[in-house]
Amino acid sequence: MRLLIVEDDPDLNRQLVSALSEAGYAVDTAFDGEEGHFLGDTEPYDAVILDLGLPQRDGISVLEKWRRDNRKMPVLILTARDRWSDKVAGIDAGADDYVAKPFHMEEILARVRALLRRSSGHAKNEIEVGPLRLDTKTSRVTVGGAPVKLTSHEYRLLAYLMHHQGRVVSRTELVEHLYDQDFDRDSNTIEVFVGRLRKKIPSDLIETVRGLGYCLGNSPDEA
Ligand code: CA
Repeated sequence: MRLLIVEDDPDLNRQLVSALSEAGYAVDTAFDGEEGHFLGDTEPYDAVILDLGLPQRDGISVLEKWRRDNRKMPVLILTARDRWSDKVAGIDAGADDYVAKPFHMEEILARVRALLRRSSGHAKNEIEVGPLRLDTKTSRVTVGGAPVKLTSHEYRLLAYLMHHQGRVVSRTELVEHLYDQDFDRDSNTIEVFVGRLRKKIPSDLIETVRGLGYCLGNSPDEA
């Protein structure tokens, strides 16, 4: 899952990047409204954390422009503590949730998890496909109850496929959602990671769909 953080306070931006990277997300970052708007407009993020008070272009206007242009990614806004009117304006502009400053990082992490699972149609933090179980809260993966050790790239790949279980996901989509913009992207590496994952989980769980990509598990309706 790939996130965008738009926050002009350098310390807060750094803390967000570090907590979210540690939680297993690919993270891009912007420090003003123009740059943030551009990235959200041109890159496919799974969720965005958007501060409202930004230089060059304020958060509300960034969000309104995205929504006018039919950008549908979930957006979590950061608001000042006592400004209830900011929360209302933000939600009316198209935000999916808000966190008031100052906040505990755990709250951001929990709200991001909730946005991601809702946008992919899951109600719980645990996603199961056959014997495979992913706990998005602890980033733990088990097969038949036994823990599986994954590298961060393997985890990201599996988490993305599990959030989108039953759907064919192309290599290009995987590259776009697993790596931040500075990463040296090469879609061949996806095949390498899929190969490694197949050695750690029951190998038939990830199906290769010729010419299209990969599919993990049946659709939730069929399961
Ligand atoms: Ca700010």
